[in-house]
Amino acid sequence: MDRKVLVTGAGGFIGHHLVTKLVNMGHEVRAIDIKYPEFQTSKASEFILSDLRSYENCIAATKGISQVYNLAADMGGIGYITSKFAEIARNNVLINSHMLEASRVNEIDTFFYSSSACIYPTEKQKNTANISLRESDAYPADPEEGYGWEKLFSEKLCEYYSKDYGLRTRVARLHNVYGPLGTYTGGKEKAPAALCRKIAMASNGDKIEIWGDGRQTRSFMFIDDCIEGITRIVNSDVSEPLNLGTDHLISINEMVDLICLISGKTLSKVTDLSKPQGVRGRNSDNSKIKNLLGWAPNYPLEKGLSKTYSWIYSQINI
Ligand code: NAD
Repeated sequence: MDRKVLVTGAGGFIGHHLVTKLVNMGHEVRAIDIKYPEFQTSKASEFILSDLRSYENCIAATKGISQVYNLAADMGGIGYITSKFAEIARNNVLINSHMLEASRVNEIDTFFYSSSACIYPTEKQKNTANISLRESDAYPADPEEGYGWEKLFSEKLCEYYSKDYGLRTRVARLHNVYGPLGTYTGGKEKAPAALCRKIAMASNGDKIEIWGDGRQTRSFMFIDDCIEGITRIVNSDVSEPLNLGTDHLISINEMVDLICLISGKTLSKVTDLSKPQGVRGRNSDNSKIKNLLGWAPNYPLEKGLSKTYSWIYSQINI
């Protein structure tokens, strides 16, 4: 371990947890973001504030680096990513294309790219059940507008850099990550954090607002599984994209009931059909990751949500 590893997006939710893990594994970590982590000081040996939409900044970021974990992205929950397609797509195309080129120029060993389940065709996600997505389902392409198209394009860029220049790239398609130290308010939060916040702030007997009819389904991965999966994928021989998510499907209504149970509160739901709900249903098919890595995310949802709810409750009641 003579050269540093780089984590971009290290001021964000997953990046911050990844830095902690890599430091605990004995790596010297350079962390980069346009902001510091919101809730905890980073363990990285250097934390640089830098905008990675600039090629020069990407070149500086990758100097003396062996492995790049490229998590920087303009992103948020469904409300955020459906609110400005051009800006999000442009920002992320700039970050990912410049980071790949800078990694080639500075001869890094491995480039990890955090792709997303949003790359899957909307056509295959129109039901609430039987919607497990295999990696091969990505084509013919019809991803989520803006954010999803960019993620799919950047997956391709990783493939091209690998084929044309021999850059060792690894790609994970993350499915809905949640856990402590994630954004839970302000407009960028995702469903589990938003629901935990609403329930933590409610009093027994209150009504809470649900986006859509609440019957839309997803699978949710606890942050510890996500970090474990990223390190396993980086250290594997698998260069093609792999799903990284659980295959435990749950509706938003069921998730609300579960968090209410955890909180000990009895609340009623009010659905708001005018709010975005994303695709109707989405699950991860984990056959490939199980076959190739002999492992798949398995952290129990109830345990992960308990930890997340306790953390958000403590933040609100500081
Ligand atoms: P996050 O928003 O918490 O972290 C992303 C970080 O990137 C932020 O801290 C942000 O400030 C930083 N960033 C944005 N623009 C930048 C720029 N120009 N230069 C430098 N840094 C910049 O998101 P996250 O949940 O930690 O996601 C990390 C990665 O995983 C992203 O690439 C995201 O698309 C991907 N992903 C996340 C999920 C999920 O459920 N959280 C699902 C699928 C994919």
